[in-house]
Amino acid sequence: MRRLVSTTLEAERELKVHNMQGRPEIMREQERTGQAEVAVIGAGLSGLAAAHVLRDHGLSVVLYEREEQVGGRATTRMRSGFCFDPGAQYIHGQAPVSDALLLERFATPELVAIAKPVWTFDSQNRIHEGDPRLNSIPRWTYQHGLLTLAQLMAHGLPVYTGCEITRLAYTGQSWLLFSDAAKIVAEVPYVLVTAPAPQAAALITTSELPHSLQQTLLTELGRARYRPLLSLALAWPRRTLPPTPYYALVNSDKAHPISWLAREEEKGPTRVPPEWTLLIVQLAPDYSRAHWSWDDQALAERATALLSDLLGQQLPKPDFYDVQRWPLALPEPETLLDAEAVHGTSAPYRLFFSGDAFIGGRAHLALAQGQESALRLLAHRR
Ligand SMILES: Cc1cc2nc3c(=O)[nH]c(=O)nc-3n(C[C@H](O)[C@H](O)[C@H](O)COP(=O)(O)OP(=O)(O)OC[C@H]3O[C@@H](n4cnc5c(N)ncnc54)[C@H](O)[C@@H]3O)c2cc1C
Repeated sequence: MRRLVSTTLEAERELKVHNMQGRPEIMREQERTGQAEVAVIGAGLSGLAAAHVLRDHGLSVVLYEREEQVGGRATTRMRSGFCFDPGAQYIHGQAPVSDALLLERFATPELVAIAKPVWTFDSQNRIHEGDPRLNSIPRWTYQHGLLTLAQLMAHGLPVYTGCEITRLAYTGQSWLLFSDAAKIVAEVPYVLVTAPAPQAAALITTSELPHSLQQTLLTELGRARYRPLLSLALAWPRRTLPPTPYYALVNSDKAHPISWLAREEEKGPTRVPPEWTLLIVQLAPDYSRAHWSWDDQALAERATALLSDLLGQQLPKPDFYDVQRWPLALPEPETLLDAEAVHGTSAPYRLFFSGDAFIGGRAHLALAQGQESALRLLAHRR
């Protein structure tokens, strides 16, 4: 189903949107009818960041997002009274592009820095204090979840959610975009694809474009490898797990089945009811691969056993659990893509790419890459 969300913030809560005064809230007619100048495929952080730069430079933009909501891997779930982030955990501060977006353009009192530090643990379940230098850099999140950032960024932008682009066709002058119903949803001069590289490559495979362009893109995009990740949310009454001096633990020797463990209630009082604790447990890539097909209950039990060993106490069955499978969680750092090599071939066809495959699997980097890709498109258009 194709649904235009222009984008109303969730009705269940009201956010104060600052610094939006004076920006055009009325969508341009071209954007409404899918005849914009640029179609952005994917409304994750890089697609949203790119869309703002393009609009700031006067281009009409329309975004197509496969999922029912924006945000991509920087998302939030609200289940059984818990508010938690199954994907990105926080956004690193002290990065120029994301600081400007988080602290200025999309500033909101909802933005909070996580107060407690991150500590480390090793394969022998030994817990150590974290690096004070790293812990002095702000870790940004939002009272009602990281999804808030994407919702703030999408506000006022024409975003079609629940609309997967399954095929592109190059006509010589423009690009036709097809949805899963094999229906043309737009005809645009410029396309910016922000899906993770393997999904971008799948789209290119099904598309109609000059053969040499298609082959080069498949070679370039095919270089990126992503790690899978199983992310679990597990809740117990708070008395089961007393407060800790840390917000989260990260595995330092990359030899433990758990890669990350965080206490969601440390992100603020709005996340978890006061009498509960909710832990986010991310399983290491190899461990995630090996247990991918386990059912959710079996995964929750295994994660509880691993946690019991790590924390040195026998935990009972969790009262709540939720499992998110991320087949394309994070790009392998050694397989990042060369933006020059990709765009050297695609830019003459007015086809552009963005996303964390070019820069590394971090939210602040995805925002920066979105801006850079938009500037690349603008430079080509001049
Ligand atoms: C478990 C996990 C933990 C992480 N932890 C952190 C962290 O703590 N801090 C941090 O900074 N980063 C973290 N990251 C990384 C961060 O979330 C990503 O790097 C960043 O969100 C990537 O943004 P993006 O816009 O490039 O891609 P995405 O968020 O993947 O956005 C791409 C969008 O394109 C859409 N799409 C794909 N194909 C199509 C199509 N054909 N048609 C329409 N739409 C399509 C997708 O649905 C998606 O919404 C984590 C990621 C994961 C998975």
